[in-house]
Amino acid sequence: MIFNPEYECMDREARKKLQLANLKNLAETLHEKVPFYRDKMDGLGTGAADIHSLADIEKLPFTTKDDLRELYPHGLLACPKDRIVEVHMSSGTTGKPVVDEYTKKDIDIWRESMARTLAGGGCTKDDIVQNCYGYGLFTGGPGAHYGAMTIGAEVLPMSSGNTARQLMVMQDFGSTMLTCTPSYALYMAEEAAEAGIDLRKLPIRKGCFGAEPWSENMRKEIEERYGMKAHDIYGLTEIIGPGVSFECEAQNGLHINEDLFYPEIIDPATGKTLPLGEKGELVFTTLTKEGTPLLRYRTRDITYFIGEPCSCGRTTIRMHRIFGRTDDMLIIRGVNVFPSQIEHALFEIEGTEPQYVIVVDRGAAHLDEVELQVEVKQEFFSDETKGLEGLRARIQNIMKSKLQIAVRVKLVEPKTIERSMGKAKRVVDNRKL
Ligand code: ADP
Ligand code: ZN
Repeated sequence: MIFNPEYECMDREARKKLQLANLKNLAETLHEKVPFYRDKMDGLGTGAADIHSLADIEKLPFTTKDDLRELYPHGLLACPKDRIVEVHMSSGTTGKPVVDEYTKKDIDIWRESMARTLAGGGCTKDDIVQNCYGYGLFTGGPGAHYGAMTIGAEVLPMSSGNTARQLMVMQDFGSTMLTCTPSYALYMAEEAAEAGIDLRKLPIRKGCFGAEPWSENMRKEIEERYGMKAHDIYGLTEIIGPGVSFECEAQNGLHINEDLFYPEIIDPATGKTLPLGEKGELVFTTLTKEGTPLLRYRTRDITYFIGEPCSCGRTTIRMHRIFGRTDDMLIIRGVNVFPSQIEHALFEIEGTEPQYVIVVDRGAAHLDEVELQVEVKQEFFSDETKGLEGLRARIQNIMKSKLQIAVRVKLVEPKTIERSMGKAKRVVDNRKL
């Protein structure tokens, strides 16, 4: 189902006109209302008057996560404080959190973009949505909640955790759709198997999963264990929360709600716009927000745009699923490695569970050493040691050929790697870089 055909299937040229008009407005408002942006624009000698086409966005300044941290908590507010009705923050594990302050109109934008997102995953007013994204300052729970209600579906506001209760509710209330992080979806599936619950016999048939990177193979795993269609959804607190982009039934790239969030792909090293189809850093401008609108926000997420029209009829540009983040990228002995590459390789290997941790250390010789801890399937573990050793050597060889670096593989018993109710932590970097 397409939630808003008027905007999602809009003629591309007409959409560009709309984007341009909103971009000019935004540049003007930010210059007038936010000293940070005024200083930046004046410093560059540019402003709304220099924007004649969408390509002119390159004349406008970027915004970075560090800017947001410095301006914490209210430095980016672009409207009177009394118009704010809700606030969210990112987890802020590496410093001050980043803040998004929403006016009533901003919440409406969020409802709209999340309704489009869940509809892309097949949600209709007849669905019972079990929402296991965390509620609170985190945007996941409230975002999915707003979207499902806007469609008119029934929402079970579970939040994350208490897996036994999740499974009880899933059975007793007949949830038809699941929303949570992909790692939590897998964890719940494991717990269900343990408790002898056959998820495939339950009415749960669709899911929208995001907030962390996951792979095509992880999708297959989730789809198989639940007997459902699993859709990737993407977003970030700074821009709105979840609802920035989403997969449709084609499951081939994520449609960006680009009438609301104008996307660019830049070379992270030079800041220059890259030609369509080249992989780089994703940048967003919030075209219509009022509370804390952002100009050219550098997400640090790596992807590329898919320009071809989609079979679903939406005309919005698509992005490939996220490859990783510029700041998650591990540089190991000079080689760039994304955790997603390791995950991808791992899924090809029979006998392992999709549970792993990458531990990076700097050894005695000041060389980076990588240990990959991987869970082994129960049936393999009870096998004699010879089989295990063979599996270990096989994984090591595959990693070497796929990543061009040597990885020490440690096989661990089933259920020993810590499960996450929210975003999974896949990398432990012990190097003091
Ligand atoms: P925090 O994790 O700091 O609380 P957010 O919840 O706003 O902040 O996280 C946003 C980030 O999560 C994105 O910039 C991106 O790196 C990651 N993310 C969100 N959705 C996806 C997805 N579907 N695939 C890959 N990464 C995602
Ligand atoms: Zn589509």
